[in-house]
Amino acid sequence: MADYGAAWREYRKRRNLAIAGLIWFVLTPVVISRVPGFVSLSAGWAYAVVMASSAIAILPFLWLLLFRCPRCGAVFTHKGPWANNVVARKCGNCGLGKYSNG
Ligand SMILES: [Zn+2]
Repeated sequence: MADYGAAWREYRKRRNLAIAGLIWFVLTPVVISRVPGFVSLSAGWAYAVVMASSAIAILPFLWLLLFRCPRCGAVFTHKGPWANNVVARKCGNCGLGKYSNG
């Protein structure tokens, strides 16, 4: 039986960052509107701040989606040519169970 512990720790790190990004995304309108001076920003700067904040929220999610299966090396969440399952319980390519040592 192989030891994929390091890979699953990496997966958990990415998952936790994605959850933090989701929380950040939900709280962004509340947080940004309370930042002193945000209301006085021009529309262009306000748009840039909101887009940067959205990128902060989305990038960890994309990083999670690109996690590679420790056994076969394929993208773990890959379910088909146009589908990914971010909460996949097993590898879409080889069927390795999440957190399994194979
Ligand atoms: Zn696999």
